Amino acid sequence: MMGSGMRFRAMVAAVGMLFLAVTVDAVADTKVNSVRLWRAPDNTRLVFDLTGPVQHSVFTLTAPDRLVIDINGATLGAPLNVSTANTPITAMRSAQRTPTDLRVVIDLKKAVTPKSFTLAPNAQYGNRLVVDLFDNAADAAPIPAPTNVATVAPVPVTPIDPPVKLPPAPAGKRDIIVVIDAGHGGEDPGASGSRGQREKDVVLAIARELQRQVNGMKGFRAELTRTGDYFIPLRGRTEIARKKGADLFVSIHADAAPSAAAFGASVFALSDRGATSETARWLADSENRSDLIGGAGNVSLDDKDRMLAGVLLDLSMTASLTSSLNVGQKVLSNIGRVTPLHKQRVEQAGFMVLKSPDIPSILVETGFISNANEASKLAAANHQQALARSISSGVRQFFQQNPPPGTYIAWLRDSGKIAQGPRDHRVSPGETLAMIAVRYQVSPATLRSANNLKSDELKIGQTLTIPGTELAAKE
Ligand SMILES: [Zn+2]
Repeated sequence: MMGSGMRFRAMVAAVGMLFLAVTVDAVADTKVNSVRLWRAPDNTRLVFDLTGPVQHSVFTLTAPDRLVIDINGATLGAPLNVSTANTPITAMRSAQRTPTDLRVVIDLKKAVTPKSFTLAPNAQYGNRLVVDLFDNAADAAPIPAPTNVATVAPVPVTPIDPPVKLPPAPAGKRDIIVVIDAGHGGEDPGASGSRGQREKDVVLAIARELQRQVNGMKGFRAELTRTGDYFIPLRGRTEIARKKGADLFVSIHADAAPSAAAFGASVFALSDRGATSETARWLADSENRSDLIGGAGNVSLDDKDRMLAGVLLDLSMTASLTSSLNVGQKVLSNIGRVTPLHKQRVEQAGFMVLKSPDIPSILVETGFISNANEASKLAAANHQQALARSISSGVRQFFQQNPPPGTYIAWLRDSGKIAQGPRDHRVSPGETLAMIAVRYQVSPATLRSANNLKSDELKIGQTLTIPGTELAAKE
């Protein structure tokens, strides 16, 4: 039998439990289950994985520098463990401020500027809270971004091209700048293959190899939008291209389709209106969706001279679209030699990343990672190298025919030192076969065989066919 005192205590306990249960269920039913971290050249991204939506606030404290993240309506579901090496973070602590409000305190080596937002669930993840810690510009020594992607095998180094001697660049002749954009990264893995191949890793490996090859071509320089596993918003990528003075922007992807049977590479340019195919529309939607991860949905245009700006934008867009289609077609026909094509011609779609009005831009879907066979090819170093080679060849062919003024390649073409393909030369008085061979950087034997010459004797006014020459590797 129970005494009355005991009965009373049991009742209080029962009521207390009931009260607590109601409170927790009503307000703090969200758990913070894990935290993930990415380091970019100028910021550190923290992503908290949540079981439901939350309210939150973020503020900084000084002396010592700290960042405080209050997550309301949440409790800790598991310890927050993440490596903070190479970041401004020295430690991460958490405590329950109230039964329903979780506080996370981040200890910092130096002050940062925070930006935070929440993300709704997607195919890969549930609700998330994203906190970006931007390095303050005043900090003298930036923390380098990690440059290693452990999941990607190193690509063996092979010679770029047959060594043909090219003349040195005269002063003031600049390189053609190609900005290479590896799609996705960090919180945004892109598409994935059945054996865990991730688009963000595959495309970074191809982008790095493409950069190496382009840098090996005299008169060209390649830059990457991202050099590690971190996310850059889509508009941020085109901004980087503009800041680096890009003559061409190449975005590399390896995508997924609803049908696992879909295969083949494609090249896209921006559509003038609407997408040219359903696939294009579907891909554009799924690629553009990743911009939500950037947190900033809209960019405000300057209101001044909006109409004039619109007209200029249209003109410039048309010019760069023509170039985009041209370079895209050259890249596509080269890719067709190393892998099956999904479509025989350049497709057009409304990819956000292609919307630079002044920079010719293409997006290369190197294959479907949702197709088991293509996924394993895409993850293989030799295939990545072949894909990069076909892209760099297409880019080189385009610029040999369309060199921007003031570049070394333009100077080469204008001074007759390279031909873009077979062309004619009329023999002037005093010219010998050897002189013409030197002028066009071909061997006398090549000239003889291209023109079926039995001897080296030339007639004034005679027309010789000059065989096409390739741009050479840097000495
Ligand atoms: Zn993609």
